[in-house]
Amino acid sequence: MPRPKIRRMVASPPRFSSFKPVGVRRASLERIVLSLDEAEAIKLANFDKLGQQEASEEMGVSRPTFTRLLDSAQQKIADFLINGKELIIEGGNIHFRENFYECLDCGHKFKIDIEIDVKQCPSCGSTNLLDFAGRFGHGRCCRRRGRN
Ligand SMILES: [Zn+2]
Ligand SMILES: [Zn+2]
Repeated sequence: MPRPKIRRMVASPPRFSSFKPVGVRRASLERIVLSLDEAEAIKLANFDKLGQQEASEEMGVSRPTFTRLLDSAQQKIADFLINGKELIIEGGNIHFRENFYECLDCGHKFKIDIEIDVKQCPSCGSTNLLDFAGRFGHGRCCRRRGRN
């Protein structure tokens, strides 16, 4: 039996997952897919400015794996900027630690531990919530990790 792949940890779902050059029809664009683990590598290294050792520990991967993810992510982003393609963030062998929600009624945005199943906006009580982990097909799976 193949060994199950260890999932990489991503702190929270990205708020934006689709990018394209202004003034170009989406249909005419080539598509680049940045996986959620690649997007997290970019965030940790280039936005949060963590060293590679710290960043790899944060994601629960080896340092060489982190370096590979970062290289691949940077290459894709360079291709996106220079050649003007559509960039989509999706997929990847990951689970989230926290979820991100946006209330579609009052606009309140908040991050919360993925273990907590949120049904209502803490600000206005609305149930009309955008569930960001859910948009990437995650949520319950992230909560089950470590329990089996
Ligand atoms: Zn609300
Ligand atoms: Zn998950």
